[in-house]
Amino acid sequence: MSDTEDLAALLEDTTPESDERLYVPYNAGWTAHIKQTGGTERCFAQHPGQDFFHLIVKGEIYLESGDERYCLTCAMRRGIVTRDRMFWQRATETPTIEPLEDSSEFSLRDDS
Ligand SMILES: [Zn+2]
Repeated sequence: MSDTEDLAALLEDTTPESDERLYVPYNAGWTAHIKQTGGTERCFAQHPGQDFFHLIVKGEIYLESGDERYCLTCAMRRGIVTRDRMFWQRATETPTIEPLEDSSEFSLRDDS
């Protein structure tokens, strides 16, 4: 398959208005989780203007790297997560977050 065909295949089922997929361009060390239990785990970031850390609720998808944990809103705001399906074409851009030392694969992990 040519590069042009690859690109067409990537885009054919994508309309930006309805595409809910998320991508982690610099994903070394990051894992996606679904919170399985109750408890008081919190996001490691605050929204501008807020003075509390977000509670991550049971069933919520969040990202984790080492001791850092982010709700998707904060991960998006920090540039860890993007809706830009074409991020890989701009791989020369400087990441807005530093890659972490753990190079484990990005994966959906079931903690149960
Ligand atoms: Zn958050």
